[in-house]
Amino acid sequence: MSNKKIIIAVDGYSSSGKSSMARALASAIGYRYIDSGAMYRAVTLWAMRHGLVDSGEVASQSLIKSLPEIRIDFRPNPDGSQSTMLDGEDVEAEIRQMEVSNNVSQVAVIPEVRHRLVALQQEFGREKGIVMDGRDIGTTVFPNAEMKVFVNASPQTRAERRFKELADKGVATTYEEVLDNVMKRDHIDETREESPLRRADDAVVLDNSQMSVEEQNRWLMSLYNSIADAD
Ligand code: C5P
Repeated sequence: MSNKKIIIAVDGYSSSGKSSMARALASAIGYRYIDSGAMYRAVTLWAMRHGLVDSGEVASQSLIKSLPEIRIDFRPNPDGSQSTMLDGEDVEAEIRQMEVSNNVSQVAVIPEVRHRLVALQQEFGREKGIVMDGRDIGTTVFPNAEMKVFVNASPQTRAERRFKELADKGVATTYEEVLDNVMKRDHIDETREESPLRRADDAVVLDNSQMSVEEQNRWLMSLYNSIADAD
């Protein structure tokens, strides 16, 4: 197998399980994992804390002006997990709350927000050896990524998984609320002007509706091996 480091882009719909797969692959092959959705969530939290989001409406001009002062990074934890850092504060738990989920797609449509986060994401990938998951990684952030995957599953399957995940974390919500959020985000993500959610022409599609976590991890690892071996 070649030791050449590559860039791996894992895109797909909300709660399709792409983050878990991407994280597991990165850890198995010793790559850095970057959750690009966490970056959009962190900007959303910043905007909410600064009173720039009101009933789903984002004060985009004020947010755009403040973008240069918002610092987003990731910090590894001793247990192997990773925390999203906003201006030096660990906001990993807070950015997963439903309130952030309900506003994030409206923040992610703002072109200036996307430009800033895409530039930061490209900086993370400068030395390759990275697995990044999101919506536009294979199309916009790393159009030349050596490996591209596009993950999908039915909205009901995704909402069920997400609901279970949130319930396990003690987040108060209902299945209907989660399904509604998943479908709304799909719609906004697919129809926005700037880098909409779209499968890159050269991405390999995975529908994991009927797959266990172990099966999808094995599928991803074998795709990686076939690409690394061919090199
Ligand atoms: O991946 P996750 O569901 O945490 O992403 C949260 C939101 O951030 C998405 O619904 C989408 O609106 C936005 N996002 C994006 N581009 C990315 C990653 C996430 O627009 N690359």
